[in-house]
Amino acid sequence: MSLLKTLLTRYVLPNTYRATAVRFTSSDAKLSACDDTPVEMENPYKKERRQCILCKLNIKPDYKNYRLLSQFQSPYTGRIYGRHITGLCKNKQALVENEIRKAQNCAYMPYYYKDKVFLKDPKLFDPENPIRSHRF
Ligand SMILES: [Zn+2]
Repeated sequence: MSLLKTLLTRYVLPNTYRATAVRFTSSDAKLSACDDTPVEMENPYKKERRQCILCKLNIKPDYKNYRLLSQFQSPYTGRIYGRHITGLCKNKQALVENEIRKAQNCAYMPYYYKDKVFLKDPKLFDPENPIRSHRF
């Protein structure tokens, strides 16, 4: 690198640019004079911890919040989507299933279809494109 800079200053750069080039090389010399101990820093390649959407937003599924719960229900059969589709962690998936059953028993949610009021809600996931492939 330094060889390239000297070559640039001597041969390639015309005289008008020589002043700036010389300043650049002198600052480089100052840098090399500093000690070259490794700098403590956070790992830039550290992967972000994967979290399910309910954990990330810190949402506790509740049977009274049936609008949210209806997102995890199929609009055609009323089945609760599996974990490979919803991408929830084990705890939250179990909680969601439990709360959906509770809501259905309280008649907040239908058993065999999705409430048509909630059909146009924005989707949390795409059932056609599961996050993990199906186990069958
Ligand atoms: Zn989670």
